Amino acid sequence: MAKMRAAVVRDFHQPIRVEEVEKPTPGEGEIVVKIETSGLCHTDIHAAHGDWPVKPKLPFIPGHEGVGLVESVGRGVTHLKEGDRVAIPWLGYACGECEYCVTGWETLCEKQLNTGYSLDGTHAEYAKAYAKQVVKVPQGVAPVDASPITCAGVTTYKAVKVAGVRPSQLVAVFGIGGLGHLALQYAKIAGGTVVAVDLFDEKLKLAKQLGADYTVNARKQDPVEEIRKLGGADAVVCVAVSPRAFEQAYHSLRRGGKLVFVALPADNEMKLPIFETVLNGIHVVGSIVGTRVDLAEAFELHAAGKTRVIHEKIHLEEIEEAFRKVEKGEVPARLVIDFGH
Ligand code: NAD
Ligand code: ZN
Ligand code: ZN
Repeated sequence: MAKMRAAVVRDFHQPIRVEEVEKPTPGEGEIVVKIETSGLCHTDIHAAHGDWPVKPKLPFIPGHEGVGLVESVGRGVTHLKEGDRVAIPWLGYACGECEYCVTGWETLCEKQLNTGYSLDGTHAEYAKAYAKQVVKVPQGVAPVDASPITCAGVTTYKAVKVAGVRPSQLVAVFGIGGLGHLALQYAKIAGGTVVAVDLFDEKLKLAKQLGADYTVNARKQDPVEEIRKLGGADAVVCVAVSPRAFEQAYHSLRRGGKLVFVALPADNEMKLPIFETVLNGIHVVGSIVGTRVDLAEAFELHAAGKTRVIHEKIHLEEIEEAFRKVEKGEVPARLVIDFGH
């Protein structure tokens, strides 16, 4: 059996390790992709720690921002061929038949399987995927840019759609990490005036460079007060991994405003006042990744030069250290594992 190098989680309390494992072969309807780049999403860290109510089955390979070239195709795969560049997203399988799937909400399919969680993921030299779930990466989008768009991009592009951002609206983005640095760009593209909130000045400096109109360091200033001074937010996209940020995000809304939950902190509770929600007509909505069409659109925007992906390349062997750096907020937007072919 052929072997490959992969990052493997065997225990929620042990560090992630790089190991030699069996290289996958494609079954019916499946493909095997030779991975070029694989972005490190904060979700990989939650997965490796077993942070969420539904846990991955051990052992598993994390990673769901995988981009690479189709190496082999299984029986019945007709729309892809060897050499095509594809992106393997979080939505690793959806049934295609349920009410959610046929109404454009495949991301809510109850039969879904998730890459790097319930299916082995892309922090590996090769990854297997259901052919119908991958999205072609257009010419003009480099793999190292395509990787962060495959989760951070599509998720925040969708969240901005869900927020219904219109020109002239004030949009706050809490958390300028992998997701947030793209969220603010999509909010700008939609016509919003953007307030970026984080705990680190370097992240806020980056936010400014990417087009944020205002920045707030939540360690130094009260984001609720600062955003209210601007009239209150019409929409907030919360991508900060902290219930406290969700609470501040809520209180920085103006009447009729919309709070979009995106981050998934291990601490799963926040305080949500009923009275103010009713009297102020507040909307609170969750948003989970995006569809294949959303991803294709996010790629198109990037190919058209409308977004910038900020990344730093790392080697697969550095993954454990990379997890720690992301948790401490010490990375520039997105770390991307480069398999260097
Ligand atoms: P990240 O670590 O790159 O970014 C998080 C950012 O939040 C950091 O810049 C950090 O400094 C900032 N932050 C932390 N606490 C804060 C606070 N109190 N106030 C303001 N900023 C604060 O993480 P990421 O990869 O962007 O992922 C963010 C979250 O989104 C994770 O929980 C991840 O699991 C989740 N996620 C959700 C979806 C979805 O579909 N809903 C998809 C992908 C990721
Ligand atoms: Zn992700
Ligand atoms: Zn379905």
